Amino acid sequence: MDPDSTDPRAAARPPHVPADLPRLLRHHVGGEDVDSLDGATFEVLDPVTGETYLHAAAGQAADVDRAVAAARHAFEDGPWPRMLPRERSRVLHRVADLVEQRDARLAELESFDSGLPITQALGQARRAAENFRFFADLVVAQRDDAYKVPGRQLNYVNRKPVGVAGLITPWNTPFMLESWKLGPALATGNTVVLKPAEFTPLSASLWAGIFAEAGVPTGVFNLVHGLGEEAGDALVRHPGVPLISFTGESRTGQVIFANAAPHLKGLSMELGGKSPAVVFADADLDAAIDATIFGVFSLNGERCTAGSRILVQREVYDEFVERYAAQARRVVVGPPHDPATEVGALVHPEHVAKVLRYIEIGRTEGRLVAGGGPPEGLAGSSYVAPTVFADVAPDARIFQEEIFGPVVAITPFDTDAEALALANGVRYGLAAYLWTTDLRRAHTFAQSVEAGMVWLNSNNVRDLRTPFGGVKASGLGHEGGYRSIDFYTHQQAVHVTLGDVHQPTFGKEGRP
Ligand code: NAD
Repeated sequence: MDPDSTDPRAAARPPHVPADLPRLLRHHVGGEDVDSLDGATFEVLDPVTGETYLHAAAGQAADVDRAVAAARHAFEDGPWPRMLPRERSRVLHRVADLVEQRDARLAELESFDSGLPITQALGQARRAAENFRFFADLVVAQRDDAYKVPGRQLNYVNRKPVGVAGLITPWNTPFMLESWKLGPALATGNTVVLKPAEFTPLSASLWAGIFAEAGVPTGVFNLVHGLGEEAGDALVRHPGVPLISFTGESRTGQVIFANAAPHLKGLSMELGGKSPAVVFADADLDAAIDATIFGVFSLNGERCTAGSRILVQREVYDEFVERYAAQARRVVVGPPHDPATEVGALVHPEHVAKVLRYIEIGRTEGRLVAGGGPPEGLAGSSYVAPTVFADVAPDARIFQEEIFGPVVAITPFDTDAEALALANGVRYGLAAYLWTTDLRRAHTFAQSVEAGMVWLNSNNVRDLRTPFGGVKASGLGHEGGYRSIDFYTHQQAVHVTLGDVHQPTFGKEGRP
């Protein structure tokens, strides 16, 4: 960030506004902060007030072209892809150190820009550092396959970076999700062009400084701000970008899939969800309530793996709904910068309007037992109280569609088969949560549920070595652990004859 571009009015700002905010976010291309070639910018809004607080350069195809050229130059002529994995790993550990050292500042900016509660933004900043450490270690530990037929043949695998990786990220937990792509893409020796979400571009502009200080060579990291249909689209269609890692809505994933098709690009898609949390009558109800409250209301409900449909077995249904609604009403909604806040401000006025529209639809589809709009005293704001609808039928829109806010639908069921049918009865298949003390039931259910990730009697905790991704409309491919390394590399098989060369006999007849 350019320190000269701080707002002189900072001293007069309300307490939720961090000091030293830039006025303009610029692209970062080939080691320089640059404006758009045509000078275009777009407005970035403060989630709390809905007012413009800065502008960001609005990248167009020409800006993407310039960034891809810089990334390609760094890939073809620079040291990064040619460094030993151990050397790159050392640099990426320094990136993690710097992220950790700046976690408070990062959290402050992220919380301000996205409306996330500050304590949760801090957790996400630390997770970003962890992602870098994990992939820095993994790329050194990576053992490629080699197969030998003694005396005859040796087969081994060369692993090569793909080139310029295009990374397109969403506005929920932006910095952390960027690290999830930047870590493995860089660890494997690629150069990158990042297109962060237009609602939350602030924290992305910190990467360039962090990478430069850590020793990532110039041109390896490039950043183009802009709208999805402009900068994002140009990146997807660019012939110099062989691979796109995308996280965002399923609808956008479909568009990207089609636009990348003519180039047969490598694609990884982490998309939307409408994940079920299934609570059987034999569950530890206290734990299930705590976890399902956290599962849908943490991160403002703007979480891809949110358990936004809770299916509860009839025997405990009434008790569950009553206790759940009471606990939801106690969740603290407030200013993102306040450490006591559990649900902050939703990211953008457009998103607030979308969530409120779904709440209005929900009033006609279910029984409202908690929330239902802005909390008392905060009408017209971007705060939405944790909202709980009970008795929601499976064909209801609030059961089927991703709301991506602090809204949950609760539905009763009787049998295991019914629970499974309800769980699978949506177009998404990202996560599933299951609460039961019956081990056999738990594992049987996990086998049959259509979800990329299943949590049994557990929260959202996850070891970074495990695959992350969804099925059905929730995604394409998996990242996480070695799967990320695979995605960001070409694996070339080399076959060597040992001993006598076996000669094919074609065309030998009559050879002099
Ligand atoms: P979005 O699809 O609107 O935007 C995501 C990114 O794609 C943004 O950077 C946007 O500018 C860009 N984009 C938009 N249109 C584009 C186009 N035509 N071509 C190229 N790029 C384009 O998603 P969002 O609203 O920012 O994020 C919320 C969504 O992301 C939710 O559906 C959520 O479930 C999903 N998500 C999924 C995961 C996961 O791991 N499965 C994680 C986080 C968020």
